[in-house]
Amino acid sequence: MKRLFILLTPFLLAACGTLNTEKLLSAGVNLATSYTITDEQVATMCAEYMAYQDEQSTIAAADSPYTTRLNKLVSGIKNTDGLNLNFKVYQTDEINAFACGDGSIRVYSGLMDAMSDEEIFAVIGHEIGHLKNADTKNMMKQAYKTAALKDAIGAINPTLEKLTNSQLAAIATAYKEAQFSQAQEFAADQEAFNVCIANSYSPYAMYNALNKLVELAGGNSGSSSKVAQMFSTHPDSATRAARMKQTADEYVAQQKQ
Ligand SMILES: [Zn+2]
Repeated sequence: MKRLFILLTPFLLAACGTLNTEKLLSAGVNLATSYTITDEQVATMCAEYMAYQDEQSTIAAADSPYTTRLNKLVSGIKNTDGLNLNFKVYQTDEINAFACGDGSIRVYSGLMDAMSDEEIFAVIGHEIGHLKNADTKNMMKQAYKTAALKDAIGAINPTLEKLTNSQLAAIATAYKEAQFSQAQEFAADQEAFNVCIANSYSPYAMYNALNKLVELAGGNSGSSSKVAQMFSTHPDSATRAARMKQTADEYVAQQKQ
């Protein structure tokens, strides 16, 4: 639907007659260019985006209890499908975590405060699922297209030479506004479940993490805003929690047979 909207928008704008031809042509050229982004280019774009995000954020120090805890949790997972993973903690009260197509996974200290080790591990497994399924790469491509369509990043060089900070900021806005589909979330939850089982965590770890998010969002007023972004990028937490409980129940029943 989003894709369709993007394809249709230039025509809608043209119909409104509010855009001059030159600008419309420019947006069209940018749009056409953005459709030829290769996986290699998007990986480079993700790396640049992550350098920008890291620079904008407060990263927990290497000897901080947060970093120590995270490193211990992920010591057994260095890569997924040949993609090297790198982990950092963003020091903020917000309850969130995200991955980017270059293998970067960022966990917010607010989420680490709210969750147990196995729940954090499950969330990381979920982000690995998005990486494995190329969801984050596709979302980055989408964000780039959105920014290009808005003509926010100017004339795009087909070779995607180094992006400027204002271009990265435009992509960041589009990236934050983008949303995974329910099917993508279900698939990433399933991968979280698999990663938890493979690493001897409870089959209920992802269920518990999702339940925690539902509780936090519905609980006392102050905390709901902290989970707002996690919810905007990861919708349907209650539905997903119910689904994960069923998956865990079935797994446990199977183990007993
Ligand atoms: Zn997700």
